[in-house]
Amino acid sequence: MASAAGSIQIGDRPLHIAVGAGHHNVTGGAPYEVTLTGRICLAVVNLCRASVGFDDRCYTPGDGLGDHPGPVDAGPHEVATTWDPEWTVDIFHEIHAQAAPNNPNERGVFVIYPDSPADGDIDEDVRKYGPTMARILANATGLPVGGQNGVGIMSEQWTWVGSQGQRLRVFEATASAGMRAHSCRFLSEVGCFTNAQDRAVLDRADFPDCQARGLVRAYASLAVARMGWTFAYSIAGDTDSQGPIR
Ligand SMILES: [Zn+2]
Repeated sequence: MASAAGSIQIGDRPLHIAVGAGHHNVTGGAPYEVTLTGRICLAVVNLCRASVGFDDRCYTPGDGLGDHPGPVDAGPHEVATTWDPEWTVDIFHEIHAQAAPNNPNERGVFVIYPDSPADGDIDEDVRKYGPTMARILANATGLPVGGQNGVGIMSEQWTWVGSQGQRLRVFEATASAGMRAHSCRFLSEVGCFTNAQDRAVLDRADFPDCQARGLVRAYASLAVARMGWTFAYSIAGDTDSQGPIR
């Protein structure tokens, strides 16, 4: 199980990815981030469709451009309760960008993993492999690696919500027994839009496509390295996509 690192064995079949655009729900968020996460989500869906081995389903309406009619955890809850029992979710991922209005120097890419010892919900695979995924995303976008200690991985307990003693609702909603056992779950925070240097990168017209390429490479790399994925995948437009990218 994901809480016991390295115990998942997907084997030789396409990878099942449940992806969503952060803040595309009635809870909402910063307009800049909402627009950006939707465009990135659509680019991920399109790249998965054009590639071989990535069975991607989007829980945000309109392949990322619409809004889920429920609150922040309604889409993720639907994934855990209605998708996963019939279509084993290998990777659950929600797309975000960071804001740090009180620290204009804050930059970079990191991944947030479920970390709630009280619930027996710690994703050890993502905790261990997150720094590699952050490097893949940094390489694909031109952003630096950032986050807690600057190594590209952050416990949910280190987030603002976690610091209030609460769980991230997205992780709480997907902490079913099945998904705790066989899924890797994470949020990506790619770039900090309150930093001028990061903002210039995020504003680029090709940024959603660049990030999508990094995300699909990161899915594949995580699945090969930590989840026993042996399918002969290929990412459209990549020349070296057979085998893990590190
Ligand atoms: Zn966000």
